Amino acid sequence: MTIDAHLHCTGRETTGDVLRALDDADIDQAVLLAPFLGDGYALDDAASLRRANDHLAQLVRGHADRLIGFAVVNPQHGGAADELARAVETLGLRGAKMVPSGWYPSDARVQPVFAVAARLALPLLFHSGIFIDGRSGRFCRPCEFEVLRDHPGVRVALAHLGWPWTDEAIAVGLIDRIHGVAPADAVFRFDISFGPPPPYRLEVLRRALDVLGPESLQFGSDCFLPCSGQHIAERRGWVEDLLDQLGLDAAARHQVFTATAATWLRLPPAAPRTARAPAAAPACAAAAPRPAAGSLRSGWLGASGRIGPLCC
Ligand SMILES: [Zn+2]
Repeated sequence: MTIDAHLHCTGRETTGDVLRALDDADIDQAVLLAPFLGDGYALDDAASLRRANDHLAQLVRGHADRLIGFAVVNPQHGGAADELARAVETLGLRGAKMVPSGWYPSDARVQPVFAVAARLALPLLFHSGIFIDGRSGRFCRPCEFEVLRDHPGVRVALAHLGWPWTDEAIAVGLIDRIHGVAPADAVFRFDISFGPPPPYRLEVLRRALDVLGPESLQFGSDCFLPCSGQHIAERRGWVEDLLDQLGLDAAARHQVFTATAATWLRLPPAAPRTARAPAAAPACAAAAPRPAAGSLRSGWLGASGRIGPLCC
C-alpha cells in the first residue's frame, strides 16, 4: 500500500478525476487538502475556505477507504476554531492543513484552533519552510511549531522538511526522541514533498534518515489536482530514486511510503508492499561514500528511540 500524504485540491477536480489519477499512479490512499490557492479560494477569504471545506467533503464522500479529506482553516479568522469543528464533526473531514502566513503558531489568537484540533485528536499538516508568496517564510520556520507541544493529542506533520531550515526541522523532531517518545507517538513527523530543490535533495534526505530514521518521514507528492497519475508517479519516482541511491531496504521504504502516514492518520496497519528492484546507481552516486549498513534503515537512535552512547 502507498499513501500520498500531501495532495492539493483546486476545486476543479471531480471524485472520478482523483480516483483515476491515484489508480494510474498506483497510490492506494491520499490526503486531500481543501483548495486555498487560487480558483476563487484564498487563505485570507474565510468564506472561500468554508466553501473549500464543503467542496472537499463532497469530493471524498463515500470513499473514506481511499480519500482522506483535510480541512483548511486560517487561524487569523475569528471563526476558525468553529469552522475546524464543523469541518470535522459535521462534514466528516479527518484532519487540517494550515499555512502560517501573517501569523505565528505561538500567537495567542491561534491557540483556540489548536485546542479544537487537540480535542478532536486530529492529524495536522503545516506548511513549513520558505513559502511561495515570498513573504511568509519567517512565520513557517520549524522552531515556530514547538508550541504545538502545548496541545497534547495533536499529531503534526511539517511539510517539505522545513526547507531551507531542514536542520532546524530535524532538531525539532529529535526532541521527542531524546525524551524517549516512540516515533509513532511523537508530536512531529515530516513529509518529504519537495521542498528542497534537486541539488539539495539527496543530502537532506540522507541527513533526515540518518538522524530521525524512516519512522519520522512520509511521502507526499504535493501535486495539484486535477492532474494525471503520471504527474504523481513522476514525483513518487523522484523519492524512489533517492532512496535507491541511499540503499534503503524494503522495510524502510514501506515506512516512508505507507507506515509513517498510516500511523499519523491512525489507519489500520497494512502489509508491506513488494519492494521495487533498486535502480542502478548513477556514476556520481557510486563514487560517493555509502552510509554504514543499516544506519539509514533505522536511524542512529535505534529501535528504542532513546539516545544511546553515540550521543555527543
Ligand atoms: Zn503543498
